[in-house]
Amino acid sequence: MRAIVYRGVNDLRLETVPVPRLRAHELLVRVAVCGVCPTDIKKILHGTVPPPRIFGHETAGTIVKIGTGNPSLVTRHSSLKVGDRVALHHHVPCLDCHYCRHRAFAQCETYKHTGITAGFDPAGGGYAEYVRVLPFVLPGVVKIPVKNSFEEGAMLEPVNTVLKAVRRLNLLRGDVVLVAGQGPIGLMFTRLLQLQGVRVLATDLLAARLKLAKKFGAKWVLNAGQASRLSPSISIHSQKSETGRMPVPQSGLDAAIVAVPSDAVVRQALQLVRGGGQVLLFAHTKRHTKPELRTPSSHLPSPNLQIDLASICLDEKDLIGSYSSDFTLQREVARLVFSRRLDVRPLITHRFPLEQTAAAVALAANPTADSLKIIVAP
Ligand SMILES: [Zn+2]
Ligand SMILES: [Zn+2]
Repeated sequence: MRAIVYRGVNDLRLETVPVPRLRAHELLVRVAVCGVCPTDIKKILHGTVPPPRIFGHETAGTIVKIGTGNPSLVTRHSSLKVGDRVALHHHVPCLDCHYCRHRAFAQCETYKHTGITAGFDPAGGGYAEYVRVLPFVLPGVVKIPVKNSFEEGAMLEPVNTVLKAVRRLNLLRGDVVLVAGQGPIGLMFTRLLQLQGVRVLATDLLAARLKLAKKFGAKWVLNAGQASRLSPSISIHSQKSETGRMPVPQSGLDAAIVAVPSDAVVRQALQLVRGGGQVLLFAHTKRHTKPELRTPSSHLPSPNLQIDLASICLDEKDLIGSYSSDFTLQREVARLVFSRRLDVRPLITHRFPLEQTAAAVALAANPTADSLKIIVAP
């Protein structure tokens, strides 16, 4: 079969590799589509994991074979059969370890193993014609309803990471929340918050994205490029937005979601949330220490982040992070996406054939004014 093999930093090659051989209780899925995700881009462009690998983890396709052994082990979980159209989930926690009991699923050892592969060390495998789904991730396989597309199925994984983050916030109906950054992830935040009755103030540098943010339920939109010329404390309070005066409460924002990897935005967000409010980091996934130098005490502070820690102690503001998905939310995520209460279809702007995966990754790494989610279709 054809596959895109990662052979080194920014080196993706179209190669012919064997179709994965199934072991007991495994699935063989013919890939229909696979989303291009920033976490894969980071690995490809910075070489954070050794080659060779086949990346791509936002995968949807059709089951073409079920491994021998006891097929009831497969079907007991999910009544899966050959011919089913499915969305895959590459990380599933054990639900039993110390981390899982604290719901810190992304820290679980089982979770850290990737359960889908097209060959080599499992790395997702979606940039290939077929993937092998290992038994421990079978509980994460979701059937795609007839009326929904494979592309919608492939979006379950990123939507899951966003819903998990939303669940970390203590919000009441009518609260005002800033979502900084209206890329595909920021737009999902905007819509999920709006569905909870939260009033969203959406910011971005691109006018086209702000327009879409309105469609995704933002109550106010603001071009951060224009706002940042003013001092941070007044930029959002008194700036006239594109849709009228910003009625941010005198007390401040109830929460801010930072979906852009900018330290300055974090600092500003900490100033803008009210006492007891929350700032959630979603895009700060790049460490400042090299893995070989890393010890528990070696995490250097972000070079530009100067924050007054009294805002956390005296003002009781929370600075929190959220990373990756929460498997226990998967059913709810599927309902939101497949019912189109969160309609992900407008988020997909570009589609590339498998052999142009490198171009797809390059576009995702350097988004244009009209690019959002990018899909590879073998
Ligand atoms: Zn992803
Ligand atoms: Zn666990």
